[in-house]
Amino acid sequence: MGRLRSFINFISTLIAFFGLMFVMFVAFVAFQRATHAELIRFGSAVFAMVLLLAAGVIATRHIKKMLERRRPCAHGVGSGKEGGCQNCFKEEQQRRADVEAREAKRVREQETKKRAETLRF
Ligand SMILES: [Zn+2]
Repeated sequence: MGRLRSFINFISTLIAFFGLMFVMFVAFVAFQRATHAELIRFGSAVFAMVLLLAAGVIATRHIKKMLERRRPCAHGVGSGKEGGCQNCFKEEQQRRADVEAREAKRVREQETKKRAETLRF
């Protein structure tokens, strides 16, 4: 199983390597034949593509975040998790109170333990 996987990995690496070599070779030949104006055009095309790609990635992330925020909460209120829903607000408060109560209990228990140990000696 592990052997087969490493073999597949090896083959795919090999293919990727030769593919890259081929692409670089084609690009090299194309660059050698290209005129100055063509090179400039190619450069700006690559630049524009990178720019578009970056803009697309950023926009997608932004939209995803926005949709996530606007999605209705468990009570069916839009943007409920952003403070628009009273029930969500109460639940969050309850959750925080629970955490605090548990922490306080833990601290109390620890103190009791410590006191018991000091009493023993
Ligand atoms: Zn809610």
